Amino acid sequence: MVKLSNPGYVASLLAQQGIRLKKKWGQNFLVDENILQKIVHTAKLEPTDSVLEIGPGIGSLTQKLAEKAKVVTAVEIDARLLLVLQATLADYDNVFLIHQDAMDFDWRAHCSQNSVKLVANLPYNVATPLFYRWLKEYRDCFSLFVCMVQKEVAQRIVAHPGGKEYGALAVICQYAGRCEIAFNVPRTVFFPRPDVSSAVVKITPVVNPSYDVGEESFFFRLVDAVFSQRRKTLFNTLHAALPFSKEELAEVGDVAGIDMSRRGETLSVEEFALISRLLYTRSGGV
Ligand code: SAM
Repeated sequence: MVKLSNPGYVASLLAQQGIRLKKKWGQNFLVDENILQKIVHTAKLEPTDSVLEIGPGIGSLTQKLAEKAKVVTAVEIDARLLLVLQATLADYDNVFLIHQDAMDFDWRAHCSQNSVKLVANLPYNVATPLFYRWLKEYRDCFSLFVCMVQKEVAQRIVAHPGGKEYGALAVICQYAGRCEIAFNVPRTVFFPRPDVSSAVVKITPVVNPSYDVGEESFFFRLVDAVFSQRRKTLFNTLHAALPFSKEELAEVGDVAGIDMSRRGETLSVEEFALISRLLYTRSGGV
């Protein structure tokens, strides 16, 4: 097996292929055996598991996943790396490589048979939009997400109301799953070293969340509207975004026991759900 946790070896492998790494694709590869093992351990892989990996890079994490899981499907945007991956993963007959932009990937087509664990060191520029998509539209496809992301993104996922990190990402992720930061990752374990620190987040999606929001797409719209103008009061953001009069909003606030002059960023997930349910019911479904 080609050992990829050696920065010198990785540098020469890339040089041999004439590959200059691209920052826009977040091409910082994990070269630390211990962190690779910790990611795999966090995913609690079983021999029956199907794994989807986004951005296999040169295959360092892919190798570890392939050793534990039944099958690994890895989606990589960079055609140059596909050639490298064919070599570094040559010993594994349970890895399927797909050359595609993850933003265009057909999640349902790949998850329809059985639920899948998504395990990845995510490219930083697409991590947040992917989490929105997975948790809003496709969470029934996945049994677990174990993903390395920028530390700041990890903190935004687990944030509590009131802080500057709390926003739509926290509300959506915490509504749709159980979220935790599994561990932090220093810059030193990558080749080349990124400018920022990372963390591994673990999200266990919940297909039927315990919060009654009335209707889910309405709830998502409401959350997005509130955080698109986070300095404004609930009164103003909801009035601007949804077809309710201020009187109706005041009545809903009274029933919910929520002061509508509060800013949305102070609302818990439960309070967002309550307002969503009351407004949705009142609208008769808008
Ligand atoms: N998994 C490898 C590791 O841990 O060493 C590489 C992770 S590196 C942070 C991110 C990888 O995602 C790169 O290989 C990059 O080319 C790929 N990538 C970037 N944007 C992508 C996208 N939109 N779709 C699929 N792959 C992408």
